[in-house]
Amino acid sequence: MSMTKPPAEWHFYLTLPDPSETRPLSREWEVEVKDTIAYAGLEYAFRLPLKVTIEGYWTKPHFFVSMNLDATVEVPCARCLEKSEVAIKGQFSYLYGLVSDQEEASDESEDEMFVALHSWKSVIDIKDQVWEGLVLSLPENVLCSKDCKGLCPVCGKNLNEGDCGCNRESTDPRLDVLKKLSEDMKE
Ligand SMILES: [Zn+2]
Ligand SMILES: [Zn+2]
Repeated sequence: MSMTKPPAEWHFYLTLPDPSETRPLSREWEVEVKDTIAYAGLEYAFRLPLKVTIEGYWTKPHFFVSMNLDATVEVPCARCLEKSEVAIKGQFSYLYGLVSDQEEASDESEDEMFVALHSWKSVIDIKDQVWEGLVLSLPENVLCSKDCKGLCPVCGKNLNEGDCGCNRESTDPRLDVLKKLSEDMKE
């Protein structure tokens, strides 16, 4: 089973401090992500728990949250399709505020994403922001090594394991057309 939205059991509850509190609040979570995430045609498996660290404070009338994500995912190499492990790190900033204060917030900040609340509650669940940040942090075009040789387009052999002896010169019909064109031009 792969996930395309936050798992139902996910909750990242933040108890909002009193608005008069000036010290920032820190929280940290570690969650096992058992299912893979399907994104951009790839399947991402989690090798270590996802670590979420946040710091939050009031910038009245909003509540500011800076979020750091750390995880290790396994995804097929873009060239040879062998599983490759990659560490991901993401840093995101969110501004929670009432719908009525949204316009003012978008004027003053471009780096933060605004999360509109209909009313202030003593506890907010930031699971949608964790999910959004996680998906945005997923790497595309992961290579098992920077000089991965990929697969042979003729026989499909993984060329990192050695050459297969196929003639790969004229396998792409588009290249044949180009070759013919340049030969024609010479004549
Ligand atoms: Zn590779
Ligand atoms: Zn081959």
